[in-house]
Amino acid sequence: MIFAQHILLALAAAASLHDGFNAQQAFAYTAKVAGFGERWPGSPGHASTEALIRQTLRKDGAQIEADNFTAKTPRGPIEVHNIIGKFNVSADPKQKIFLLAGHYDTLFQPGFIGANDGASSTAILLEFADALAGHKTNMQIWLVWTDLEEAIKAFDADDGLYGSRHLARKLSADGTASRVKGFFLLDMIGDKDLGVARESGSTRWLQDFIGVAAKQLGYSDYFFRYQAGIIDDQVPFLEAGIPAVDVVDAMFGRMGPGFDGMGEFHHANTDTMDKVSAHSLEVVGKTILRTVELLDAQP
Ligand SMILES: [Zn+2]
Repeated sequence: MIFAQHILLALAAAASLHDGFNAQQAFAYTAKVAGFGERWPGSPGHASTEALIRQTLRKDGAQIEADNFTAKTPRGPIEVHNIIGKFNVSADPKQKIFLLAGHYDTLFQPGFIGANDGASSTAILLEFADALAGHKTNMQIWLVWTDLEEAIKAFDADDGLYGSRHLARKLSADGTASRVKGFFLLDMIGDKDLGVARESGSTRWLQDFIGVAAKQLGYSDYFFRYQAGIIDDQVPFLEAGIPAVDVVDAMFGRMGPGFDGMGEFHHANTDTMDKVSAHSLEVVGKTILRTVELLDAQP
């Protein structure tokens, strides 16, 4: 019996966080969320997505927090619902916190379902919740589903990033920001032709950790082969003094004259399930969780 117990303990120790990432399940979550249809705030698809996030967090034993407010937008007031699922919260008031975030809203555009832009980021976080269930880390891990990332009219200083701006300010104001070791934003990472940009405004040392993790897993080809400057939900967190990285595939389909600056399928109704793959979700999901392991092992 003692011998058998030792084998069980050894197996438990070997099961690392990144090994717990199930790419097929992440893909199934992506299909489910995309299947809800348009998911702009106030839409039925948005409400269904919120319900799925909450249901998954309850199943996985997270502490659920809401960050709700009314945003002033060019379309009038809009109710915004950021959802946070916290894992491994200890009694230590100085415990470090790591944030993994992605937006779950979609563009206000009739017929736009955003399998990659919206569903893939929502889904990878749902699968992170499943991987984190019952998995011990030193840091608190917060999964953050940001709302109303998409601009109502056009991205500028005041339009877009509504949810992330509100949450970053809140963490600054209540002093939590100083305990946040880092922030990874995941966006459009389901692209089956995966290439994660080296986003030029992101925190370089934190980005380099992702490069190390990718190398360890044999995924270097998918990361940082090109540079791009992207305004996304990481910006308000950078402005709050939090080390932050935008993990984004900024080339979605063909590039060039006549196409959107982020590729032919970006913000197009052709952003559908045939453009995403379980393999891409696996590459990004495992690499990000491996990076979290590396950071968690640091003093
Ligand atoms: Zn978008």
